[in-house]
Amino acid sequence: MCVYMDHAATTPMAPEVWEAMKPFASEVFGNASSLHTFGREARNALERAREQVAGLIGAPADQVIFTSGGTESDNMALCGVALARRDTHRHIVTTAIEHHAVLETCRFLDQVGFEATYLTVDSDGFVEPQQVADALRPDTALVSIMTANNEIGTIQPIAAISEVTKEKGVLFHTDAVQACGAIPIDVAELGVDLLSMSGHKLYGPKGIGALFYKKEVPLERFHHGGEQERKRRGGTENVQSAAGMGRACELAVENLEQNVPRLEKLRDRLIDGVLNGIEGVRLNGHRTQRLPGNANFSFEGADSQSLLVNLDLAGIAASNGSACASGSPQPSHVLPAIGLESDLARCAIRFSLGRSNTESEVDYVIEQLNQSVDRIRSAAGG
Ligand code: PLP
Repeated sequence: MCVYMDHAATTPMAPEVWEAMKPFASEVFGNASSLHTFGREARNALERAREQVAGLIGAPADQVIFTSGGTESDNMALCGVALARRDTHRHIVTTAIEHHAVLETCRFLDQVGFEATYLTVDSDGFVEPQQVADALRPDTALVSIMTANNEIGTIQPIAAISEVTKEKGVLFHTDAVQACGAIPIDVAELGVDLLSMSGHKLYGPKGIGALFYKKEVPLERFHHGGEQERKRRGGTENVQSAAGMGRACELAVENLEQNVPRLEKLRDRLIDGVLNGIEGVRLNGHRTQRLPGNANFSFEGADSQSLLVNLDLAGIAASNGSACASGSPQPSHVLPAIGLESDLARCAIRFSLGRSNTESEVDYVIEQLNQSVDRIRSAAGG
C-alpha cells in the first residue's frame, strides 16, 4: 500500500486545476499588461483567478495580490508594513511557533533596526489575546500570528486577538497558509488586515501564493519594477499558475463543507488508534482545536528519523515537522516552545491527511506504526 499523509508539506495538484492551467501553456500566452486581444485574454483570466482566490477568504478581489507563495506573502506583509511605518513604528509582535517565513523575516528586521517580540505559547500551542495586549507598545507596527500551526495544527483564536489589535489601532497579519482550504476563513470575521496564502497547500500549483491586504494598509514595495499587482510586485504576472490557484480555491469553497467533517473523522480515527494501541505516546497540540487533517505524536524511545524511514519502507509518507527545515538535524522550534523535552521533540512525527486518504489507509498506518515503534524500541534495547 502507498499512503501519502504529508499534505501539510504539499498537496497533489487537483486534475481540475491542471485543466484550468493548460490553455496558458499554449494558445493563451498573452502578457496580462498588453492592450491587444491576447493581453486582454490573459488579463481576464488573471482577474477571474483573483476573484476565485478572494472568494475563499471572503475578501474583495481588489484587495488580493498574487505572489510566488506563502513565503513571499509573509515577507511582503512584514517587511512591507515595517518599512512603510519605520519612521514612527519599529516594533513587531509575533509568536515563537511561526513558520520560518515569518520568524526569519522578523530576525532580518531585528538586524536592520526593528525589534520583534516573540510571544510564548501554552502546552497546546495557544497564544492568549491578553498576551498580545500586554506586548503592544505605542510603536508597534504590526502583529503577526499564524491562523494554524503547520506542525501541531493548533488553530489560534485569531478573531479574539484581532479585537485587541483593533482596540489599540495596531495592524494584524495572519499566516493562513495551512488554514486556507482546510477550515473556513473569512477575513472580515477574523478581523485581520493582512493574510498570507499559498497555492500548493490547497491542491493548486507550487510557486504561487497570494497576499490579502486591506486598501488602507500602508505597504512599502520591495519588489521594484513595473506597476503590476497594485504596484507592489513588479514583473509579468504568472497567469498560468494564478489560474490554477484560482481554480483550486474555487474547488476548496465547493468542497469545504464535506471535507472538514470527513477529515476530522479520519484524523480522530488515527489519533484514537495510536493513543489506544501504542504505549508511551503523546499527542502534540490540542485534542480538538487543530486542523482537521493534522495529527502530531511523540513516540517515547523511537526517534523520528528511524520511524520515518521505517514508515517509508512500508509505503507511508509522513514528516517530522516543516518540510523546509527537514534535512536539518535541529529539532523543530515548535515542540520545545510547547514545553516538550528534547527527547520527546526528537521523537515527533506529523501526519497530515488530505482528500485522498481513506479509513483503510488510516488503519494501515496505525498497524505499521505499531510495528515500527516496537522494532525501533527493541533495537534500542527498550
Ligand atoms: N507558512 C506556513 C504556515 C507554511 O506551512 C508554509 C509552508 O510550509 C509557508 C508559510 C511557506 O509557504 P510556501 O511553501 O508557499 O512558500
